[in-house]
Amino acid sequence: MTEKLLMGNEAFAHAALEAGVRVVAGYPGTPSSEVVETIARLRAQGRAHGVSVEWSTNEKAALELVAGAAYCGARALFTCKQVGLNVASDALLSLNYVGVRGGTVLLVADDPGPISSQTEQDTRRFAAFAKVPVLDPATVEQGFAMMGAAFELSERYGTPVILRPTTRVCHASAFLDVAEETWARELPEGGFQKGPRWVIFPKRAFEAHGEINDRLRAMASDYGSDPLLSQFNERVAGGVAPEGAPMRPPFAIAAGGVSAAYVREALALIEREAAAAGVAVPPYRFLQVGTAYPFPEQTVARFLEGAPDVIVFEELDSVIEDGVLQAVGRAGLAVRVHGKHDGSTLDRGESSTRQVVFDLARYFRSADNDHPVMPVLEAAIGRLELLHCDEPLPPRPPVLCAGCPHRGSFYAVKRALGKRDAVLCGDIGCYTLGNAAPLDAVDTCLCMGAGITMAQGFAVAEPGKKCVAFVGDSTFFASAMTGIANAVYNGHDITVCLLDNATTAMTGGQQHPGTGLTLMGQQRRPIDAEAVLRALGVERILRADPFDAAQAEAAAREAIGFEGPSAVVFAAPCIQLAPPKPPVAIDGEACTGCKRCISSIGCPAIGFDAAAAGPASKGRGTAFVDEALCYGCGLCAPLCPFGAIQPAPGAASGKGAGQEEADA
Ligand code: SF4
Ligand code: SF4
Repeated sequence: MTEKLLMGNEAFAHAALEAGVRVVAGYPGTPSSEVVETIARLRAQGRAHGVSVEWSTNEKAALELVAGAAYCGARALFTCKQVGLNVASDALLSLNYVGVRGGTVLLVADDPGPISSQTEQDTRRFAAFAKVPVLDPATVEQGFAMMGAAFELSERYGTPVILRPTTRVCHASAFLDVAEETWARELPEGGFQKGPRWVIFPKRAFEAHGEINDRLRAMASDYGSDPLLSQFNERVAGGVAPEGAPMRPPFAIAAGGVSAAYVREALALIEREAAAAGVAVPPYRFLQVGTAYPFPEQTVARFLEGAPDVIVFEELDSVIEDGVLQAVGRAGLAVRVHGKHDGSTLDRGESSTRQVVFDLARYFRSADNDHPVMPVLEAAIGRLELLHCDEPLPPRPPVLCAGCPHRGSFYAVKRALGKRDAVLCGDIGCYTLGNAAPLDAVDTCLCMGAGITMAQGFAVAEPGKKCVAFVGDSTFFASAMTGIANAVYNGHDITVCLLDNATTAMTGGQQHPGTGLTLMGQQRRPIDAEAVLRALGVERILRADPFDAAQAEAAAREAIGFEGPSAVVFAAPCIQLAPPKPPVAIDGEACTGCKRCISSIGCPAIGFDAAAAGPASKGRGTAFVDEALCYGCGLCAPLCPFGAIQPAPGAASGKGAGQEEADA
């Protein structure tokens, strides 16, 4: 074993390998992506023996693959972010009815905030909906331990198990002892054993539902005593009764996920402040609920006995609070429950240690301003205020990178549409940023692959408008092909713009079927998206270089003019894959300060100096290029009607709209 500083996702990957995982599949999505990538890296380094790891085309494909492996008896791991579980949900709900043979863990990372997601959905709710147990780590160390326990739990009860870290747990770091090498567990004798249990007929589903209910009851009960499970519902007591003061019953705090870590920090801070002030912290109890579903009701009811109040801290939904209310009601306890429902804690977004102290202070202030804990809480708040920085972070407007090929694609489509009434449907990926001014090229964004099918809805509802759908290459293979088949089958008049930058850029540059390179290092024949479009029956397909403004606009114009499903493949690599070219330069003598280069494409590398006075600018100021940002893509050069932007040697030099007008 070696002690290593690991990011949460790296730690979870090590834990899965140490548990003997044999098959790993997922789809990239922040904050979960590094789990699969770490396993692939360790495998490539020869440190993870016998494991198969892949990015699947989408989450549904990944989970179904994992299910097949688990039927054989292999330990199998699926990973995704919270919205990815929506895509895999069809497989998940049925899989739970069928059950598993090999330990099957679904690492589903939630994103409170949300920092990089379209929803703040709570996977603990999803787990309850699917009737699948969920473990909810507060820290990297807990997540590491829970991964191993999840495999054990899965095999013991024949159920898939969800491990749900949130962003701060996935991306925090901790020192852990990890194995230098790991070996995948051997399959049980004979591998897959054929039998009726693997075919989910309605009669079997009815029986299976009863089995699910039985095992959930058993697990909920085991949470109180079984060493494997009870460790994750940790109970601690603190505070002391002040000398001579009337004995107060202990105040109770319950928490789950990273909020439990924040509560621990807050309690430690309060204890320190109290010690420094020479005052006693009144008695309290704290329970971390690490097993959010099935809810450990008996454990919670025992914890609450004798406490007049409990306040519940958790991010996202009121899962623990609802469980506490149920436990209180069923046990007939006289406990007041505080949390999201009565506004005592945040009903959305991320929490923090500071927020926990504030919430406690607000609660006590409203309940009993003379409560002996108030001076200590006020002191803790004072300490936190000293540490807290109220300075706003530097603004980082969401904008496509300088040199991003999507900028040229959006600009070409906007030019091709001109004043024509159109709806522009975006999708999930970097290119959602095409929504920002001045491109203003994304009117809708719903979920993976939805742009293409939504465009068809607009086309049917408002036939007079042109409907254009933008989709990235990774999303194309993940979720778009069915929608394109629908457009061809039903003859919908849409234009699909495939923004092919040869990577899954938004989640860190993962490979996909269009690149052909697998996570295990094999170079397969890349699937040609253009050939797929053709095979699906799209009759008019154009191809264009988005940095060649004239060519890209002509292609967009032709595709948009076609009646029926058409497509343009805008192909140019992400800047992460292509070396930068020398930056362009703006000739201050020739620049008139018209700002056309800025208002057309909005490249963050182009700025404007209102104080600069060039001979042609007549006091308006002149544009300039930030050489540190410019990628030398050349897109802006032909836009200047006055030829003031000097293209970099070797940059794209297609004739753009601005130059055409200048010529005219
Ligand atoms: S388009 Fe040309 S003239 Fe106008 S601000 Fe930009 S560089 Fe200057
Ligand atoms: S060449 Fe122009 S458009 Fe391209 S990155 Fe540089 S400033 Fe931006």
